[in-house]
Amino acid sequence: MSTPICPNLRPLEWERFDHFICLQFLFMHLACLLVIWTGVSTVAFFTCLVLYVTRMFAITAGFHRLFAHRTYMTGRIFQFVIAFVGTASYQKGPLWWSAHHRRHHLLADTEEDLHSPLTRTLWRSHFGWFLSRDSQGTDWKLISNLMKYRDLRFLDRYYSLPPALLAGSAFLFGSLLQRYAPGLGTSGWQMLIWGFFISTVALYHGTFTVNSLAHIFGKRRFATDDNSRNNFFVALITLGEGWHNNHHYYPSSERQGFYWWELDIAHYTLWALSWLGIVWDLRTPPPDLSRLRISSPRESLDPNVS
Ligand SMILES: [Zn+2]
Ligand SMILES: [Zn+2]
Repeated sequence: MSTPICPNLRPLEWERFDHFICLQFLFMHLACLLVIWTGVSTVAFFTCLVLYVTRMFAITAGFHRLFAHRTYMTGRIFQFVIAFVGTASYQKGPLWWSAHHRRHHLLADTEEDLHSPLTRTLWRSHFGWFLSRDSQGTDWKLISNLMKYRDLRFLDRYYSLPPALLAGSAFLFGSLLQRYAPGLGTSGWQMLIWGFFISTVALYHGTFTVNSLAHIFGKRRFATDDNSRNNFFVALITLGEGWHNNHHYYPSSERQGFYWWELDIAHYTLWALSWLGIVWDLRTPPPDLSRLRISSPRESLDPNVS
């Protein structure tokens, strides 16, 4: 039995699971165990790390800060690239992701919030919600401004395609290294397990900590209507998403670490990309943070902002 963190916890009933998604999720985890058979090599480990960081950046800077919140502008090519890489994280597509995230901001920590650790269990807020039937659909009304992009609609519909391509590429890359650089000690299977399965499962749990841990553990700078927290550990593993109380207070800012000591790697990267002209109009936090009211009405998101 799980330990209740507040009195109104509800277990996730078996019949509410989407069995296909559950099997998929279980398979991703079980496949990681094949590492016992493939072993590890330096090149496989670093490939895993690079694919984690690259795809986490695409989730953080792409799915979240670009698609869900429109906190900066970019061209169609970069928009497609970041959507493709984000979709390779196997967390469904950019439209599904953005609609659920916009819903979260509208209903954070209420009974209607699908992944609140306050009104659900901690494990449901972490990944149970992702496996439930309730979360499989998309509220298209919430993402009407994104519907005009055919490429995003394509990725959203065929969201398994980028992860499948990544898995195939990892296997091919490992097989080529085995043949042409045997000294590296890797193989197609080893690269598949590290580059795709372990890296993707780590990404799942890294991303999901924003919904679970960052609504329970950490400091609250702003008295928002939800229970969002600023959490350094979550910020570290998600490249800046752990400053979640800042973000719930002021979701229209591209930067989520409001002070220099609040590590926000996605922001530094976007800032560098803005110097190259790849992204622009990065929206900033309120100018004088020290004079901010420490209270906030629930900010409603306008789905028609483009
Ligand atoms: Zn939140
Ligand atoms: Zn958000």
